[in-house]
Amino acid sequence: MTAITTGERRCALCGQASVQAVLVDAGRSGSADLDLRPPPDQRGTIAHWVQECPHCGYCAPAIDERVDGAEETVQSPAYRALRNGGDLPPLVVRLLCASTMLFHAGRLVEAAETALWAAWAADDAGATEEARRARRRTLDLLDELRSRGEHYIADEGAEGLVMVDIARRAGEFDRAERLLDGLAAVDDPRFAALVAFQRGRVAARDRARYTIAEAAGGGP
Ligand SMILES: [Zn+2]
Repeated sequence: MTAITTGERRCALCGQASVQAVLVDAGRSGSADLDLRPPPDQRGTIAHWVQECPHCGYCAPAIDERVDGAEETVQSPAYRALRNGGDLPPLVVRLLCASTMLFHAGRLVEAAETALWAAWAADDAGATEEARRARRRTLDLLDELRSRGEHYIADEGAEGLVMVDIARRAGEFDRAERLLDGLAAVDDPRFAALVAFQRGRVAARDRARYTIAEAAGGGP
């Protein structure tokens, strides 16, 4: 069961009120994809994972809370260009704006995660090229995060495997191979099965989506 409630929220930037949906609970059944995109019940709520102020364009996890540097970011030419982003699906724009906001606040884990959500939203909208761009952005943010000695997922092997999948689905096959080569050996048959699966899909230049259950041989 998925529960969504709506309520009035006052924007921390412009002070104006708007009605926002708040996700209370998302059901979960079935297998996530290899990039951790959740199964249908949960991912169906993606439109409510970030909020957007309709008055000033502030996009954030919760618009009644101020992200560091938000005033500057929302006024920046890059953010404005993104907001007026041509014919991109509105949800993709909202998620990319929130990712930009979080990046400028130094919240790289959330910035990367939100960029990945933008890729999923682009997939749903059939915006293939935008989905690729959002995945490349996610990988760049994750590289930056790792270069700082921080992590998106505490288990480095699991994090590496997720990055392999993001690279493969972006069509960045060389990058996926380098990431596969960089994975430390893990004595776990399930992990080994997922590595072997990714090696095969990368070699086949396959950009398709697979669930973890499919890749591990357990069926969809
Ligand atoms: Zn506002």
